[in-house]
Amino acid sequence: MKKFVFGNWKMNMLRRDIEEWKDKFFTELEKGLNEKVSVCIFVPFTHLIIAKEIFKNTDVEIGAQNMFFEEKGAFTGEISPLHLVDIGVKNVIIGHSERRKIFKEDDEMLSKKLKKAIELSFKPVFCIGETLDERESGKTEEVLERQLREGLKLLNSEEIKKIIIAYEPVWAIGTGRVATPEQAVSAHRFIIEFLNKNYDVNIPILYGGSIKPENFDSLVKNPEISGGLVGGASLKGDSFAKLVKIALNYIS
Ligand code: PEP
Repeated sequence: MKKFVFGNWKMNMLRRDIEEWKDKFFTELEKGLNEKVSVCIFVPFTHLIIAKEIFKNTDVEIGAQNMFFEEKGAFTGEISPLHLVDIGVKNVIIGHSERRKIFKEDDEMLSKKLKKAIELSFKPVFCIGETLDERESGKTEEVLERQLREGLKLLNSEEIKKIIIAYEPVWAIGTGRVATPEQAVSAHRFIIEFLNKNYDVNIPILYGGSIKPENFDSLVKNPEISGGLVGGASLKGDSFAKLVKIALNYIS
């Protein structure tokens, strides 16, 4: 099975940092990438072209962290999916918990973004996950089911097959508090069964939340976990390369 190691740089990394990242990444990776581990980094909009240039002729893909669902018009400050298409970016994160929480993106808006992304042949990574309160009150599966049902409601099974899901418990993002492998596997199994039962699809499900080289092995070794969406540990090329090397042990 293929594995995925995806990095979310959030609002970090200037041009010089990207050059240094690339050097460290390929030095640590020694043998280079294997086609069975897909690597993509999601960079700030202004640096998409810069990153594409820096990583040209490598197998590192570049993606955007967000996009709007309209193609053009009076939406000051937004980024059209057509702007991304125009510069050759086809990977995009939709519904990261920081977009949901800080920028108030709701299920309705995210369903439109996913629809537009699929219509324009993007490869979207759709993020879902429960808050600490929701987990502690026993609502994890209810929340995941709602986010999936609502987010995917404008898509048919063939379209859903083009999506990657990232299960990112909100309490684990940027907190240093990683989900235990048991917690992650249980949530992934729930998502896998839900997608299977309702849409007859089997798509990659990544885990995200405080992944580091020290904890990644125990997560990515499980067949239910197709890889990781990594924030903090993706900011250093060498630590990100270590994650790729770990994933390489579990491809089949
Ligand atoms: C993320 O931003 O998607 C994320 C999982 O961040 P971190 O790895 O820092 O928890």
